[in-house]
Amino acid sequence: MLNLNTGITEINRVGASTAKKLKKIGVETARDLLFYFPFRYDDFTCLTPIRDLKPGLNANVIGQIDMLQNKRSPRRRLNITEALINDGTETLKVIWFNQPFISRILRVGDRVSLAGKAEDGYGGLTMVSPVYEKVLTPVFPICQDGNSKIPLTPFVKGGNIAIHTQGLVPNYHLTANLTHKQVRFLVKQVIGLSDQVADWLPPEIIKNTKLFNLGQAIKKIHFPKNNAEIKKARERLAFDEHLLIQLQSQLAKRSLGLARAAKLEFHEPETKKFVDSLPFRLTNAQRKAAWEILRDLEKDRPMSRLLEGDVGSGKTIVAVIVMLNAVLNKKQAVFMAPTEILARQHYETVCRLLSDFGIKVGLVTRTNKLMSNDKCQMTNQCQNSNDKKLKLDAMDVVENTDIIIGTHSLIQEDVKFNNLALAVIDEQHRFGVEQRKVLMEKTGGELTPHFLSMTATPIPRSLALALYGDLDLSIIDEMPKERKKIITMVVPEAKRPAAYEFIRAQIRGGRQVFVICPLIDISDPLRPLSASEASKLGVKSVEEEYKKLAKIVFPEIVMAKLHGRLKAKEKEKIMAEFLAGKIKIIVATSVVEVGVDVPNASVMMIEGADRFGLAQLHQFRGRVGRSQYQSYCFLFNESDSDKTLVRLEALVKYNNGLELAKIDLKLRGPGQVYGIEQKGFPELKIATLFDYALIKQARLEAMKLIGLDPSLNRWPGLKEKLGEWEARVHLE
Ligand code: ADP
Ligand code: MG
Repeated sequence: MLNLNTGITEINRVGASTAKKLKKIGVETARDLLFYFPFRYDDFTCLTPIRDLKPGLNANVIGQIDMLQNKRSPRRRLNITEALINDGTETLKVIWFNQPFISRILRVGDRVSLAGKAEDGYGGLTMVSPVYEKVLTPVFPICQDGNSKIPLTPFVKGGNIAIHTQGLVPNYHLTANLTHKQVRFLVKQVIGLSDQVADWLPPEIIKNTKLFNLGQAIKKIHFPKNNAEIKKARERLAFDEHLLIQLQSQLAKRSLGLARAAKLEFHEPETKKFVDSLPFRLTNAQRKAAWEILRDLEKDRPMSRLLEGDVGSGKTIVAVIVMLNAVLNKKQAVFMAPTEILARQHYETVCRLLSDFGIKVGLVTRTNKLMSNDKCQMTNQCQNSNDKKLKLDAMDVVENTDIIIGTHSLIQEDVKFNNLALAVIDEQHRFGVEQRKVLMEKTGGELTPHFLSMTATPIPRSLALALYGDLDLSIIDEMPKERKKIITMVVPEAKRPAAYEFIRAQIRGGRQVFVICPLIDISDPLRPLSASEASKLGVKSVEEEYKKLAKIVFPEIVMAKLHGRLKAKEKEKIMAEFLAGKIKIIVATSVVEVGVDVPNASVMMIEGADRFGLAQLHQFRGRVGRSQYQSYCFLFNESDSDKTLVRLEALVKYNNGLELAKIDLKLRGPGQVYGIEQKGFPELKIATLFDYALIKQARLEAMKLIGLDPSLNRWPGLKEKLGEWEARVHLE
């Protein structure tokens, strides 16, 4: 008998290799499968008569197989399965590539349900590689005159309802060569167990909110009958996430209310000296944000503040101003970044900007422990003077510096601070409570450090307050004056040579260029593509583009490639040379997505733009247009679907992260936008930032619960869930 804890290998048709793949997506038990939610549905609720099929239309058809044969195409060494399907209205040609086993599963005379897209170009209208399942239909559907779609009562498949080709068919985020069909088949086997999942919400909340109970929500998110059910199921699951955020944030506020922090005085003359030393004038928004933060630091209550500003709005300077003040109070400040590249860049920036202030700056990443020495500061040569710096262990750095910059390894490594009073976290919408606890233990004192998180993730003020009631908010809503709007274009393949010539001219004019590709190489393990698939889809990889550009297109130009598989040292060297202007073109993956600041770069060329989310594309684009130079963003795409074009056109039209996030959400559904791509929001799987009503509801319910029992001991299920969730957020 299956139960929730049944290991995945005991489920029908899960062999060792499938189990291994499932493990990669975190699925090891029946329960895990139930919680592996789909992010999208194909709508096959209507049946289309073959007579009414049109090219490009995604449709479900049912018919009898009149002919079926396997062929080999000698030229491309492909195995082709061809079939003719007849539904009484017309006959449809169907082909599958390299799935010879289909001719053993399906036979002439079988009735099949197919889901897929019909295309022109294989000698008449043809359905290419549709999903198929055998069905037992007593009669063929007869289409009524003038009605091209027939509402479908599900056709019975050997006693079971068809799950792959009819109704609202769930799509899952897949990795490791799993197929939707496999996942659906497995989920179907365990879906009956959803009633056994204990609901962690207190019953009174379910009553108050009229939400689905958990079992219902799980069942319906996988196999909904209609869109209304999807909506209700999502609402319940999203509510859970919002409730956890609210509980965590309100509990954090409670406990912070009791904590004490070091009062940091505002040192006006030195701050003024610093601001005057900058090569530009601060924007009013930067001044205001810095002022709000400095005022907070003067209190003996720990600050918890979110600094929000679109990409390129100049958050780093604000951070430097406030860290300078911490140091002037003879305290330490720590500045954490999500990637090594970014930490390294901040290190260079801070060394350079504070070179006249006699401040010691340290860098701690997994592979790198550096400390600025006096000489480095005097000569303002931090940038390219690796040799002048000492290699140290993390403890040395932390003990002997005023401002410590680093990645997460700062809180993971066995370091302790002397007297940490301020922690700044870049490009993370909020700092996990758990991480805060860890840092607390490292402060070297009784006092809690002040916290500042910085993010480019656009959240409107009212929403941020509702979402994160424990955080105060400063917003930089103004770009430096001399910035020019980045010119964004979707470039058709035919114009590619012209784009390359344009790039050549930009480089001649002294500028630099990024080229972004979706993959490192075609064996990129992060994406489930076989080599033939990749080349068939034309997905661009860093390795291949680099080869092409360096050998054929720009043989005269110095260029480099940058991706996650390079050693930290190599990445660093490449970034340093790019920043110094020696390298003119960088061909990279999304490693340059956040934060990278090379003001001289003026062209961002994105290959396979359809493979990225809008928020991510906006982040890429934010790597250029960071100075007075007119900058350009060229989007190349491999898909010509209408939806893709709409998305890319939105990028051309809007320059505003919030607008783009909303559009992305509307076009792609929540799982796509936040589930995997919006890295700043690890805790949101189903919920989105735009669930205004749900957020309000969750906030209210959380307040009620905490009012009744802040220990949450009354609701053990909920308490356990909150603990698990915090642990997960902490790990990510
Ligand atoms: P982000 O907010 O995306 O982190 P950065 O802090 O990296 O942006 O700043 C982007 C670029 O703008 C940097 O090169 C920075 O030196 C520059 N910058 C910051 N403030 C101003 C300003 N007030 N005027 C002109 N340039 C500025
Ligand atoms: Mg930044």
